[in-house]
Amino acid sequence: MKENVVAIVGRPNVGKSTLFNYIADSKISIVSDKPGVTRDRIYANCNWLNFNFKLIDTGGIELNNNDTIISHMKEQVDIAIDLSDVIIFVVNCKDGLTDIDKDIAVLLRKVNKPIILCINKVDDYKKQENEIYEFYELGFENVFPVSSVNRSGIGDMLDKVSSYFSDTTDEIVEDLTKVAIIGKPNAGKSSLINKLLGEERVIVSDIAGTTRDAIDTEIVKNDKKYVFIDTAGLRKKSVIKDEVEIYSYMRSEIAIDRCDIVIVMIDGAEGITKGDAAIAGLAHEKGKGVIIAINKWDAVEKDDKTIYEFTRKVREEFSYMPYAELVFISAKTGKRVEELYNKIDIIRQNQLLRIQTGVLNEVLLNAISINDTPQDKGKRLKIFYITQSDVCPPTFILFVNDIELMHFSYLRYLENKFREAFGFIGTRIRFELRLRKEKE
Ligand code: GDP
Ligand code: GDP
Repeated sequence: MKENVVAIVGRPNVGKSTLFNYIADSKISIVSDKPGVTRDRIYANCNWLNFNFKLIDTGGIELNNNDTIISHMKEQVDIAIDLSDVIIFVVNCKDGLTDIDKDIAVLLRKVNKPIILCINKVDDYKKQENEIYEFYELGFENVFPVSSVNRSGIGDMLDKVSSYFSDTTDEIVEDLTKVAIIGKPNAGKSSLINKLLGEERVIVSDIAGTTRDAIDTEIVKNDKKYVFIDTAGLRKKSVIKDEVEIYSYMRSEIAIDRCDIVIVMIDGAEGITKGDAAIAGLAHEKGKGVIIAINKWDAVEKDDKTIYEFTRKVREEFSYMPYAELVFISAKTGKRVEELYNKIDIIRQNQLLRIQTGVLNEVLLNAISINDTPQDKGKRLKIFYITQSDVCPPTFILFVNDIELMHFSYLRYLENKFREAFGFIGTRIRFELRLRKEKE
């Protein structure tokens, strides 16, 4: 599901992290203790009224240490532009308008995204009212005096922020497949995008990184529509020199949220890295279709065993996602790149599969008859029936007499049986257990 992303920018000490902590409050789901992060919380899933959004405190991302404050601010703004849908620009009423605020405003005015000017530290509106007006000079339409410490004015500001959110309903468009290409720098993502686009008709193309969507490329091939979400393109244009770990992680997560299928790109010449594993893990967690593409296969010295060896390593490393499709490609020569389209189409079909309840239950009964359900202390698990509740990923509800009696290994057995029967190629499938009282 696409989730709106809000970024907080502003010079040091204006109150960004105080504001962030207040909005994020107890709703934090990601607590970061990763290196490259100066604060413990820079990234949180939040909600305001009916809206869910991700909030990023760009001030918490440790960028290049030796930089001047303005280049630091540039990097912050770049990250905000890159990742967010709405930007909250925080200034400090007690300090008044500073030159750095003006410099940041210049950067932000070029941005084609809604900007909310948050005048913080207005702890006593009546007393400070006259000090607010100078900030109008910055030229932003949406101005909100707030006090992060007194927690006042923030609600009105968030109302405005959320008014810019795009519809986040989880609508599935069956004839459009969104594919995110994710991998570490230099894995070959840009090269692959270029090869994939080839001669095809490009409908929307990359425009100088003004909006996040501009890095999406929509193309039509064999009468089918695809959107490729390029996570490499913008980074190259930006001034962010060293891609900090947390930043690339957030980027990947946001791209994965927005796509149907993830191509995890691995540099075959280098082998599987920790970063590759983290990306694949995210794709799995979010139930996306997965293709593991081993790139630069042209540059790997091979004998007749190499491909089997590599396959074994990949399968071992990603043992929790045996459903992932695997392909060895060269984005440089184009070898087997076309095959990716094929795999994308197949996975899309499989993640959209809906199986009739009758057929599902036949397979279930058959599976149970071969290998009976687990039991504990004389009580046997009963599965009354199964029904499919969702697609993308296909999700099934099992109605049982006692949830505790289900074993992980038995679920895996059932999963294998369902895969044997229906495929579900390249997609995770999910099971939910529901208690159903036995009729006495
Ligand atoms: P950041 O560097 O922009 O993230 O700023 P911080 O959130 O660390 O805040 C800097 C200082 O300003 C801290 O001492 C905060 O307690 C203080 N501060 C933050 N918000 C307010 C506010 O609304 N009013 C007042 N008086 N102080 C605030
Ligand atoms: P990105 O950072 O993931 O977008 O990677 P790029 O597409 O910019 O590629 C990084 C480098 O790897 C470039 O020098 C490419 O020419 C090279 N490269 C990309 N794909 C391949 C490939 O399949 N084989 C070889 N030998 N080099 C490749």
